[in-house]
Amino acid sequence: MNTVYKTKKYENTGEIHLYKGTRFISTCTLENVSLCASVEDSPSAISCKDEQEMRVYCATLGRTVCANCVGELYKTLD
Ligand SMILES: [Zn+2]
Repeated sequence: MNTVYKTKKYENTGEIHLYKGTRFISTCTLENVSLCASVEDSPSAISCKDEQEMRVYCATLGRTVCANCVGELYKTLD
């Protein structure tokens, strides 16, 4: 299962939420609801990251990332 993740920053709150998706050959599709289920959107599906890449990336982003989204990211063990 090629699960991927994508960040989207919300300028109004300064928060970054994560979206989960599936990688295809040259692109990926993303769910319309964030991992924390608090925002709905259709983020652009370019440069999605796999789970490990996203964990590293979130660590560099620090507290600007939604804690609930990060929690979901660490909960998925597939
Ligand atoms: Zn979130």
